Amino acid sequence: MAKQYDAIVIGGGPGGLTCAALLARWGLKPLLLEKNEITGGKAVTVERDGFRYELAPKLQVPMRGPAFATAFKLLGIESELKPIYLEKACLAYRSSKWKKYKTTITHQTEAGQDPTEFFNLFGLDAQEQERALSILTDIAMMPPEKLRTLDDMTFEEYLSQFDVPYGLYSYLAMHSNASLAEPIDLVSASEQATILQHIALKGGGGYYVGGFGRVLDTLTKAIKANGGRVLTRTRVEKINVENGQVTGVVTEDGKLKAPIVISDAGIQPTVLKLVGGEHFDKSYVNYVNDLVPGWAFTAVKYFLNKPVLKFPMYMMWSDDSWWNMERFLKVKQGHVPKEVIMFGIVPSNFDPTMSPPGKQCFIAGTICPPDPESTGMIKELYGKMDEMLNRVFPEVMDAVMYKEFEGPAEVSAATRDHVLPGQGGECVGLAQIVGQCGKYKPSPKAPIRGLFYVGCDAGGTGMGTHQAAESGINVARMVLQYHRKRQAAR
Ligand SMILES: Cc1cc2nc3c(=O)[nH]c(=O)nc-3n(C[C@H](O)[C@H](O)[C@H](O)COP(=O)(O)OP(=O)(O)OC[C@H]3O[C@@H](n4cnc5c(N)ncnc54)[C@H](O)[C@@H]3O)c2cc1C
Repeated sequence: MAKQYDAIVIGGGPGGLTCAALLARWGLKPLLLEKNEITGGKAVTVERDGFRYELAPKLQVPMRGPAFATAFKLLGIESELKPIYLEKACLAYRSSKWKKYKTTITHQTEAGQDPTEFFNLFGLDAQEQERALSILTDIAMMPPEKLRTLDDMTFEEYLSQFDVPYGLYSYLAMHSNASLAEPIDLVSASEQATILQHIALKGGGGYYVGGFGRVLDTLTKAIKANGGRVLTRTRVEKINVENGQVTGVVTEDGKLKAPIVISDAGIQPTVLKLVGGEHFDKSYVNYVNDLVPGWAFTAVKYFLNKPVLKFPMYMMWSDDSWWNMERFLKVKQGHVPKEVIMFGIVPSNFDPTMSPPGKQCFIAGTICPPDPESTGMIKELYGKMDEMLNRVFPEVMDAVMYKEFEGPAEVSAATRDHVLPGQGGECVGLAQIVGQCGKYKPSPKAPIRGLFYVGCDAGGTGMGTHQAAESGINVARMVLQYHRKRQAAR
C-alpha cells in the first residue's frame, strides 16, 4: 500500500524548501522529493578542490529583510541565518564615446548606495546628476499603490516620461539584464522598480556565511527537524489526478499518496509534463503554453592560483553590451556582440573559508537565451567573457588554473525540464515581464484541487532567490488554509 502524506513537495529549490519547512513547522507531515543528489536547485553551493561556490554568480537582494530572514524567523531559527553585507563593489563602464573602460569603487551604506560614485562613472555633468538623482529618488520613494499601477508598462515606458541622462539609461538597461535577466523594453516596470527600491532602501546586496547552499541546507534540516521527510535522488515522473483532485505522485520507486501536491518544478513542466494537458481545460493549457520563459545567465568560473581580485562583487558593461529586444533578436540570428555585460562575485571575499588559502574563485556570468539547445552561441559568449576580462582585469586571466562552465543546458538538466521549444535554462523562471507580474502573475493555485505551484513562477516578487523564498512563505500559508478546510469538512 502506498504511504499517505499530508502534502508532497516536488523540488528542493529555495521555493520548495521554504514551503516544506514551514508546512512541517505548522504541523503537516510533508514529503519533499528532489531529483538531484542534494537540495538547493539553482542556488546550490558545490565543493571542488577545497573551493565552495555557486554554479553562477549569486547575490542576495534585498540584503536587509530578505524572504529567507522572514522564513527563518517563522521557523524559530533566525540566529542560523548568517548574512554578510556587501560593503564595496567594483564597477567598470565604457561609454560609446570612450575607447577604454573606467572603473570605480562604490560604497554601500545603511541607507543604500551613494549614487555620486555611479554618476561620476557615467560621466554625468552637474545638471545630469541632478536629473538622475531625482529619477532614482522617485523610484526609491514610490509608494506600493503607485508601484502596483506599473504592472501594465515596461521599465522603458516608465522611464520615457523623464529626460534620462544616457549613462543612467545604459546602467538601468544593464541592470534589467543582470538583476531580472530581462530586456528593459519588456521587463515589468513594477518588478524592476521593486528591485531598485530594495537596493536603495534595504542594501545593495549580500551573501551568506558558507554560501547560499548553507541557507538551503538549514531549510532542509528544518523540514526534518519539524517532522517532515526529504528524499533526494528521487525524480517525480508523474502527478496523479482523479476526478479533478490530486492523489499523489509517481516516482521510479512507485506511487506516493497525498491530497496536496506542491510543485517547484516550474509551471510549464508541471502542467504539460507531470500532470498532462488532458487534465486541464484547453484554455488553461493554452495559457500555460503561451507563458514566456525568462532569459538565462551563462557562467564561467575562473579558479585562480592567487587572490588577484580585491572586492566581493564586480559589474562590467558598456553602452554596446546590454541587450534590449532588438539586440537580443540579432544575437538569436547568430550575431554575437563584440562585448558582453559581466556580473561576477568572489565568494571568498565575502567569506574567506570559501576558497583554499592563497587561492580565489571568480564566478562571472552574462545574459543569454534560455534555450538548452543553443550551445554554439553559449560557447562564443564564454569566449567574449574571457576577452572582457583580458581587457578590464587582465590579472584574472594570468592567474587562471582552470575554468568551469555553466549554461542553459546545464541549468535545465539540474533544475527545470525542457518541455517547450526554447525553454528550460531560465535564470529565474517565467519572464518577469509585462503581463506576467503583479496582478498578472500566475496563481499558485492550479485549477485542479490540491495542486499548487511554488517558487519563482508564482506567489512571489523581486529578485531570484528572494522571490522564490517569498513564494514559499505565501504558498505555505495558502496550503495550510486549504489543509485546515479539508480537515474541517471531513
Ligand atoms: C545563472 C544564474 C544566476 C543567478 N543569480 C542570482 C542572483 O544573483 N541572486 C538571486 O537571488 N538569484 C539568482 N538566480 C536565481 C535563483 O537561483 C532562482 O531564482 C531560484 O533558485 C529559484 O528557486 P525555485 O525554488 O523557484 O526553483 P529552482 O531553484 O529551479 O529549484 C527547483 C528544484 O526542483 C527540482 N525538480 C524539478 N523537477 C523535478 C522533478 N520532476 N522531480 C523532483 N525534483 C524536481 C530541481 O532539481 C530543483 O532542485 C540565478 C540563477 C541562475 C541560473
